[in-house]
Formats: sequence, structure tokens, C-alpha cells
Amino acid sequence: MAWSSVGRWTLFGTLACVAASISFTMLAFGDIDGELGQRVLVSATALPIIIGAPLFFLFSLKLRGLTMANARLGRVARTDSLTACLNRGAFTSRIDSWLRDPTTARSGALLMIDADHFKAINDVYGHDVGDEALTIIARSIRSILRNGDIVGRMGGEEFGVFLPGVSQHQAQLVAERIRAAVNSASFVPDGQQRSLSVSIGGAAFVEDTSFTRLFRIADQRLYGAKHAGRNRATVVQVEDHPTINLRRSA
Ligand code: GH3
Ligand code: MG
Ligand code: MG
Repeated sequence: MAWSSVGRWTLFGTLACVAASISFTMLAFGDIDGELGQRVLVSATALPIIIGAPLFFLFSLKLRGLTMANARLGRVARTDSLTACLNRGAFTSRIDSWLRDPTTARSGALLMIDADHFKAINDVYGHDVGDEALTIIARSIRSILRNGDIVGRMGGEEFGVFLPGVSQHQAQLVAERIRAAVNSASFVPDGQQRSLSVSIGGAAFVEDTSFTRLFRIADQRLYGAKHAGRNRATVVQVEDHPTINLRRSA
């Protein structure tokens, strides 16, 4: 609710009160000719302005505060508090809506990104340093993305990136740049630079598809990247790729 809206509600509300007050006065007193009638009319007009205007202003102000608090709560509910990425629910539903919207481009790609050997970071340096590493990974991912790309934390040390409108080739380049950005990010947990790495699987599409299908294929490619030695990125074209029911366990 904007300031113009506060002003509009104050004005319209006050005018409505003035109209109601004048109508009531005319109904109650009938003929309001003469000096007394005019005084009655002036008081019927002035009173709602004196009382109604501040009241409507106050109500509109409170409503504006509530609208802003509601928007803030919505943002918090959609955001992962550690990395400031979208959380899994918000990420999934944003992509779902994008894929269902007939006005959006019909191509794009989903990348699934998983930190390599992350358990060892927690084990060696502690959970707080692990948290710091996650924020560094999230920052490195975001540093590569354009406006309009969507990034979410899927849970644990796993992130998702949606790239609207890209080809498989472009998605592969972005995935490779993300991998390199994480790998060269500054991470100094014990006074020495330690390198972080991620494995990335991606699914690019040029036809109608669903989030579930993209997720399954990107997840399979991530599984492949882990098996191939980690710290690598592979993006495939969904339409060329049969969906096998493989679950990642690497
Ligand atoms: P891989 O290369 O196969 O992915 O190995 P990994 O060690 O990364 O995978 P694994 O699934 O064995 O371990 C994931 C670890 O990530 C275990 C868990 O404690 C850690 N983790 C998950 N969420 C968080 C978090 O929010 N903060 C911290 N510090 N660690 C987390
Ligand atoms: Mg991992
Ligand atoms: Mg994982």
C-alpha cells in the first residue's frame, strides 16, 4: 500500500462521511433554508472533516504498515536464512509457474549443484565454518547469474539454478563458470586458502516440460558428475535423454 493510496483512502473516506452527514442532516431537519439551516449544514460538513480525516489517515497508515509487514513475512517465508537464496518450496513453485506460463520462452535449463565432500569440511573445521562455506558457495553461484535467473537452496549443501531462455550450450557454459567460481572462491578456515568444489548436473529443454522431469534428469547428471570424480559440470538436453529412475547416492 503506497502513500498515494493512504491519501486516496483518507480523501474518499472523509468525503463519504461528509456526504452521509449532510444526507442525514437533510433527512432529519427537512428544509434547511435560512441562517440556522446554513449553520446546521456547515456543522454537518465540518464535523466529519475534523474527526473523519485524521481517523481515515490513521486507519490507512495502519493498513499500510500491515501490508508491508505481510510482504516482509512472505519474503522471509520464501528465503533460506543462511544463504539468502530461495528455499526449496519457493524455488520449485517459481519454476513450476514459469514452466506453466504460456507467455514465457519455451527454452531454458535447470542446474543441480552439490558441494563436494562437504561432510569433511564440517568434520575438520566445525559446523560454523561449514555454514560459512555454504554462504561462500551461494555467493559464488549468484556472482555468475544474470537478472531473471533463479537460485534456490534445495536443502543441505545442495543448490538449484534455473536459467530461463538459455540453450544447452549456454547452460553448460554457465555451469562451468559456476564450478570455476566456487573452486576459486576465497575460503580460509585455518589461516590457509582451502578450495571448495561443487559437482553440477543440468537439464536443458526446448519443449514443454515439467519441473519433476527436469529435476530428475539434472539429478542423474549430478550423480554422473560425482561418479566421474566431482568438481565437474554436465548439462544434457532433456529431449535427447531418457529418464531412468536412478537415485543419487554418491
Ligand atoms: P559428496 O561429495 O558425495 O556430496 O559428499 P558430501 O560429504 O558433500 O555429502 P554427504 O551427503 O555425505 O554430506 C553432506 C553434509 O552436508 C552432511 C551435513 O552435515 C552437511 N550439511 C548439510 N546442511 C548443512 C548446513 O546447513 N550447515 C552445515 N555446516 N553443514 C550442512
Ligand atoms: Mg555433497
Ligand atoms: Mg548432498
